[in-house]
Amino acid sequence: MLQLETCNLNPVRGRITVLTNTGVCMKILVARIPEEGSAYTGSDPGTIMDVENDPLISSFGDVYYELYAQKVSGELIVRGTLSAGVEMRCARCSEFFSTTVAVSDFLRAYPAPEGTDQVDVTEDLREEILLHLPGFAVCGESCKGQCAQCGANLNDGPCDCAKNDSPNPFSALDGLSL
Ligand SMILES: [Zn+2]
Ligand SMILES: [Zn+2]
Repeated sequence: MLQLETCNLNPVRGRITVLTNTGVCMKILVARIPEEGSAYTGSDPGTIMDVENDPLISSFGDVYYELYAQKVSGELIVRGTLSAGVEMRCARCSEFFSTTVAVSDFLRAYPAPEGTDQVDVTEDLREEILLHLPGFAVCGESCKGQCAQCGANLNDGPCDCAKNDSPNPFSALDGLSL
């Protein structure tokens, strides 16, 4: 986990990235948002996704965001789009493959009463991206998967199980003369 509480605020105008001694977090500086709202566009390293221990995901590429934040009667409304490249494990053949996860409808409201300095959106961006990952990810529609017997990746060609005729429980009957 990123230690968000250790963030040293070092905002870049128009972005929400905050560099810290442990990585990156994303904060919106509420006090600086004008009446009409502020747009934030940028990308952050995939390490913010913190998926080191996830067996189905090997890594994330940069996380791109286009967000718009507006103060509305004591709340901060943040909406926009997110996207990131991701290396996922195929549910059929178990090989990792590259795909893109996109969120077209990010929308969150944060309590932001008068005097609120900043809102950390890192966890919500992360959660939303994870929610949009495919539940049954396959490397391609034509993926042949793994051999149920030897575990070979059948996309690399047929395994020996397919070459040797599988034993047929009824074949012994052929030898019987009735
Ligand atoms: Zn596959
Ligand atoms: Zn096999």
